[in-house]
Amino acid sequence: MVKALVFGCTGQDGSLLCRSLLRQGIDVIGVSRSSNPNLTIHQSLGINGKVEITTADICDFREILEIITNHNPGEVYNLAAQSSVGLSFRQPVDTFKSIINGTINLLEVARFAGFKGRLYFAGSSEIFGNTDRPADLDSPRQPLSPYAIAKDASFNTVQVYRQAYGLNCVTGILFNHESPYRSRTFVTRKIVDGALRCLREPGYRLKLGDLSVARDWGWAEEYIEAMQLVLRADLLENELEDQVICTGRSETLEYFVERVFAELNLHWQDHVDLVASLRRPSEILRSVGNPEPMWRKHQWRAQKDVDGVIQTLVALGCSGVPAQPDPLTA
Ligand code: NDP
Repeated sequence: MVKALVFGCTGQDGSLLCRSLLRQGIDVIGVSRSSNPNLTIHQSLGINGKVEITTADICDFREILEIITNHNPGEVYNLAAQSSVGLSFRQPVDTFKSIINGTINLLEVARFAGFKGRLYFAGSSEIFGNTDRPADLDSPRQPLSPYAIAKDASFNTVQVYRQAYGLNCVTGILFNHESPYRSRTFVTRKIVDGALRCLREPGYRLKLGDLSVARDWGWAEEYIEAMQLVLRADLLENELEDQVICTGRSETLEYFVERVFAELNLHWQDHVDLVASLRRPSEILRSVGNPEPMWRKHQWRAQKDVDGVIQTLVALGCSGVPAQPDPLTA
């Protein structure tokens, strides 16, 4: 039986990935930092109890070595991270530790153990900074946050371990992707929840920061499929090939807000306050990816772009699908 190991298995992507792997008949071992992991999303997805959860710190060499040698998985997915760009300005050290130290520790264990399986790293579009044209692997990289710096360093490290040591490791550089399982610290979740609250509670005001920033938003379940395609690809000249995973369409946050409120027959200007203090110390103004390399290599294209994402999120929000609890208060 094939086995997969998923770091960050309790988050949005980790939970959706676990469900996808289980549906393929793959045994899934999920790694969480907590001995009492938050399995809210697993419960919502109906996979609670189906993933073998083990507690470990991705930065601990001995713990990770034991897990890899005991289970000998065919696939390892490294999704564990302090994943909020905004929070990374307030907690840069924890962000670096979770992403850079975690990634290099996992790669070192794989090298030391002579790991023959495949290893996926969840990269981020934040490494590109502002994109003048749709970003791909040839684009300049200009990280603008502690989170982006950590993802950029880890992306480089994965390339070095692949080229220097022949490890089958690869990065899927993910642009923003959403689902009802996003934590409430993320602005898309905040907007959908806020708009629904405006509908229920006349007089409620939603507070937001800079709405001029533009992002390339896709649907998380589709990006989970793309991750697996990238990891399972035929080797190109004996190497796996990093990929950018995106829709290719970028819209402003104002567009996102306007469309969410419009889905509920509300005018956003009647319900939203723009608050200067919610702006980040430095912010990417426009982020968009080039979907063509992923299409050429894997015949994969995102089916839902920003409009599909908004319609689905609002529809699910109206039907009461629970979100992940805020990591700051959970
Ligand atoms: P989540 O924040 O939902 O999940 C990340 C998981 O990582 C958590 O469930 C948590 O699991 C673990 N984690 C959190 N903080 C730390 C920490 N300080 N140290 C170690 N582990 C930690 O993220 P997503 O599922 O949205 O994203 C998955 C991956 O994809 C992340 O690496 C993220 O950076 C990356 N990514 C996501 C994008 C998106 O739009 N969603 C875009 C680009 C990249 P536990 O508490 O159980 O250990």
